[in-house]
Amino acid sequence: MPIFAGMDADVIVVGAGPAGSATATYLAQAGVDTLLLEKATFPRAKACGDGLTPRAVKELQFLGVPTTEQAGFQRNRGLRVFGGGHVLELPWPELDSFPPFGLTMPRETLDHKLAQHAVAAGARLHQDTTVTGPVISERTGRVVGVNARTGSDSSNSATHTYRAPLVVAADGVSTRLATAIGRDKNPHRPVGVAVRTRVKLTKPPSRPGQMDWMESHLELWDGPREHGKLMPGYGWVFPEAGQVVNVGVGSVTSTARAKGVNYRELLTTWMDTLGPLWGFTAQDVVDPPRSAALPMCFSRQPLYGKGLLLVGDAGGMVSPFDGEGIAYALQSGRVAAATITAALSPGAAGRREETLLDYPRQLKESLGGYFSLGRVFVKLIEQPAVMRLCTRYGLPRPTLMRLVMKLLSDLYEPRGGDWMDRLIATLARMAPAA
Ligand SMILES: Cc1cc2nc3c(=O)[nH]c(=O)nc-3n(C[C@H](O)[C@H](O)[C@H](O)COP(=O)(O)OP(=O)(O)OC[C@H]3O[C@@H](n4cnc5c(N)ncnc54)[C@H](O)[C@@H]3O)c2cc1C
Repeated sequence: MPIFAGMDADVIVVGAGPAGSATATYLAQAGVDTLLLEKATFPRAKACGDGLTPRAVKELQFLGVPTTEQAGFQRNRGLRVFGGGHVLELPWPELDSFPPFGLTMPRETLDHKLAQHAVAAGARLHQDTTVTGPVISERTGRVVGVNARTGSDSSNSATHTYRAPLVVAADGVSTRLATAIGRDKNPHRPVGVAVRTRVKLTKPPSRPGQMDWMESHLELWDGPREHGKLMPGYGWVFPEAGQVVNVGVGSVTSTARAKGVNYRELLTTWMDTLGPLWGFTAQDVVDPPRSAALPMCFSRQPLYGKGLLLVGDAGGMVSPFDGEGIAYALQSGRVAAATITAALSPGAAGRREETLLDYPRQLKESLGGYFSLGRVFVKLIEQPAVMRLCTRYGLPRPTLMRLVMKLLSDLYEPRGGDWMDRLIATLARMAPAA
C-alpha cells in the first residue's frame, strides 16, 4: 500500500532492464511500495554483448542474485586482446573490492531473472505496459505520475494513468520520459554504436581455453591480416553457456555525430574472417543482428529534478572506455533506491528535495572523474594514428597493459591497492566531474 493518499504507488519505475529492476528490488526490499512498468513481455530480446565484468558481478551479488554456473552464467577469466599482430591474455585483476571473475548471460535470460527478482522482493511488475508520457502537476511543474498504454492492438489496448510522488526513468537510451520533459541528451558527450549477433558452435573451438576469455579485437580485418584491409571499429567475441558465442562490432565517437558506417555489413564481413578461428559459418547464426546506441558519460542531465530520477542508459551511464553499461545501470539503481528511501522516510519530510539531490551528487562523486578521463580517452582513440601506435607499441608491454586493463574496465582499488590502483584513483579524483 502506498504511504501517500490518492497515489497508485510510492515510486513508479519505468522500464525493467537492469537499471529499473535493480531500483525496484532495492526499493521493495526497503518496504517502499513500487510499481515497475515494462513495455515488453519477458523474456524479451535485447541488443547487448551480454558481458559482465567483475564490477557487474559485484553489483549482482549486492542485489542477491546467485552468480553461479548452475544459475546459467558462463564464467570467464579475463580479456584476450587482439591487435597490432599481438594476442595478450589479461586475467581480471585480483582485488579486495571485486570478485576475480567475469560472467556472461544472454540478456533475454538475465533481464527476466532481474525482473523476477524485483517481484520476489515485493515490487509490482506490469508487463506489456508502454509509458506514453509523464503526468505533470500544473501547480508545481513536477512529474507526479505517468500515462501508459497496455495491449498491442486496438482490440485489447487500454490507457491508464498511474500516480506517485516520485518517478524513475529506467527506459533506456531513448528515454521518452526524460525527453518529454525536455531533458535532452548532451550532443558533446561520447556515444557508441554497436551491433551483435549470436552463433552456436557445432564443435568445441580448437584453441585451448578459448571459451574461458572474453575476446576483444582492437582491429577489424576484412580477411587474413597479411593481405586484408583494416575496417573501422572494434569487435568482441564473448563465450556463453551452451557453446554459444556473442559476436559484435561497434565504435565510439566523442560527440553525437554519425560515422556513416554500416555496422551490420561490417559485422558480416568481419565474421567471415573470424569464423575459421572459432569454427563457425554464417549458417550457425542463431540470433539475428541487433544494434543500438550506447549513451556515455552522463549524457543526459540533471539526473534528478522535478520528481524524476534518471538511472542507467536513461542518464547516459555507459563507460566510454569499454562500452560497459550493465554495472553502472545496477549501481545507479542501488544509489537511486537508497536516496529515495531516505527521502521518503518520515524523518526527511521537511528536506525531501535536498535529500533527493544526493543522488546526482553521489553518482558524480563515484563516477564523474572516471567518465571525464574517458572523454579524453575517446578523443585520443578516435584518431586512427593514435590507436595504431597504441596497439603496435602498447600491447607487447604486459605491465602497461595490466594498467590499461584496470583503467579500461574500471577495476582498481579506490583506496590503497598497488601503484597502478593508486595512479588511476588519483587521476579519477583529479579529473573534474561534469
Ligand atoms: C550492441 C550492444 C552491446 C552491448 N554490450 C554490453 C556488454 O557486453 N556489457 C555491458 O555491460 N553493457 C553492454 N551494452 C550496454 C548495455 O546494454 C546497456 O548499458 C544496458 O542495457 C542499460 O540498462 P538499462 O536498464 O539502463 O536500459 P535497458 O536495458 O535498455 O532497459 C530499458 C527497459 O525499458 C523498457 N522501456 C523502454 N521504453 C519504455 C516505455 N516507454 N514504457 C515502458 N518500458 C519501456 C525497455 O523495454 C527495456 O526493458 C551494450 C549495448 C549494445 C547496444
